[in-house]
Amino acid sequence: MTVRDPFAMTALDAVRAFRARERSAVEITRSALDRVARHDRAVGAFLRVDAEGALAAAATLDARLAAGDAMTDRPLAGAVVAVKDVLATRGLRTTCASRMLEHYVPPYDAWTVARLRDAGAVIVGKTNMDEFAMGSSTENSAFHPTRNPWDLTRTPGGSSGGSAAAVAARFAHAALGTDTGGSVRQPAALTGIVGLKPTYGRVSRYGLVAFASSLDVVSPFAQTVADAALLYESIAGPDAHDATSVDRPVERADLSRGASVLKGLRVGVPREYFGDGLDADVSAGLRRALDQMAAAGAELVELSMPHTSHAVATYYVLAPAEASSNLARFDGVRYGLRADGRDLRSLYGATRDRGFGPEVKRRILLGTFALSAGYFDAFYGRAQKVRTLIARDFTEAFAKVDVLATPTSPTVAFKLGERTADPLAMYLADVCTLPASLVGVPALSLPVGLGASGLPVGLQLIAPAFEEARLLTVAHGVEELLGRLSLPSLD
Ligand code: GLN
Repeated sequence: MTVRDPFAMTALDAVRAFRARERSAVEITRSALDRVARHDRAVGAFLRVDAEGALAAAATLDARLAAGDAMTDRPLAGAVVAVKDVLATRGLRTTCASRMLEHYVPPYDAWTVARLRDAGAVIVGKTNMDEFAMGSSTENSAFHPTRNPWDLTRTPGGSSGGSAAAVAARFAHAALGTDTGGSVRQPAALTGIVGLKPTYGRVSRYGLVAFASSLDVVSPFAQTVADAALLYESIAGPDAHDATSVDRPVERADLSRGASVLKGLRVGVPREYFGDGLDADVSAGLRRALDQMAAAGAELVELSMPHTSHAVATYYVLAPAEASSNLARFDGVRYGLRADGRDLRSLYGATRDRGFGPEVKRRILLGTFALSAGYFDAFYGRAQKVRTLIARDFTEAFAKVDVLATPTSPTVAFKLGERTADPLAMYLADVCTLPASLVGVPALSLPVGLGASGLPVGLQLIAPAFEEARLLTVAHGVEELLGRLSLPSLD
């Protein structure tokens, strides 16, 4: 390990190297910063790099280790982590990739950011995203798009595309994103890394700028399942600041079982996820992975989840409805951008016109319409009922199987600009990730290899609510079975 560059390590490797005093935290952090300086001009993963803050945090860790603190309560000491710019960072600008919050400096840390710091992680910067997390390609950022480290003409997915690209480019060992309808799982799939959306309520939303409050989940990205588990265990757990946070014990994944966990495991394969729109690369990659899982002793159970096809319509009523309400606070009066106006009404109008980009405006219009008097029952009310039907599909499936296996994204990474003119095409591609979001169950995307195009393919595993430990244990088994991807070098 000592011969390797710190950026080539996993988070766990870096933590071990730090504890063993093979590498100082400052050395590891500098290596990450150097790599960002060399390559992020091409990738565009970061909106802000906090070199000073990161080096200061690293120096504190080194001083504590030198003073004899073994730091056993700092499971992330030595690891460098990037944070999506939708999570509040004290003293460090948090913009949501929007002109509206371009100059906003939070006076506090999000709960999850504070947990990472407590765990000893060095936070290296804030990553690019679709504005207010609305999108699937990171092209809706008000500042610049992010490019996929596997192919710079393609998107890394979104909305947490900056965090995904930062891990795939090895600018950071791991990262936080947020997943409302797939924004961690889909970019993880498109960049060949691991993304875990925990159960809704498992992780506090305190300090997360709200998009759709009944769906938003802070979620880790990592190179490996073990690293994803490490981050998840650091951020999960109850928090009194968030009324939907759940107080249940956070069980640890069993990473000692390896692929043997697959023996006798009942894996549900819902046929609705394997429809016509799948790329040949994706269906071939999934088929190969499922065959290998079966050969390792998993029992593949084909089943039907009949309401799957309604998830897109349901989500694209509910999420914009919640967004229209949440984003009402950006009115130019309390904080954020303020444009001039003759009176209050024109000040509101001018501020929101200048502050929000086209996709955010589209969502606010859609959501306001769906909630308006006379339409509420036909749209919002009905979408809530369909959400219940989708939940019933999951309850019935989990009566028969331990986990579900599906594609994460119907396609591999697509070209920048390919879907920007057609919002519906962008929305429809969320079909595989939306159901688990609407139902709140945990889901993870794991790379299963490269397609003929040379681009990564992601497998989505889904478990019942609060069964993250099962999900991670199974994913670790699959990772051991299929082997890990080596990430692109960028040189
Ligand atoms: N792509 C979905 C959307 O645009 C999901 C976004 C997310 O999970 N934040 O709303």
